Amino acid sequence: MHEMMVAENLLSAISDEAAKRKIKPIGAKISCGKLYAINDEVLCFAFEAIAKDTSCEGLKLQIEHKPIQCRCKKCNETFNADFSGPKCPKCSSEDFELLPDAPLLLEEIEF
Ligand SMILES: [Zn+2]
Repeated sequence: MHEMMVAENLLSAISDEAAKRKIKPIGAKISCGKLYAINDEVLCFAFEAIAKDTSCEGLKLQIEHKPIQCRCKKCNETFNADFSGPKCPKCSSEDFELLPDAPLLLEEIEF
């Protein structure tokens, strides 16, 4: 269950920022790649549990899952992976590579 680790990292990043601004954060937006396999519910639950009695208590987390990207080896086009019939949208080649998953990012904090 790596959600707990993610929640801990988020909490420290958000509360650092909140301490700097001396205001209470009310929400945060994060994004991560699909392969990161974050379970929204588990993450929100973990975050809520550790945020209790901190400046982040009651903060709403919004999680955006980014699609996996591929790069065509023929024409270099990058496109979102579609596992039902993956091929390059530009040249129809099926010769492509998967790009590394998008990292977990803290996109925005709402105060
Ligand atoms: Zn192509």
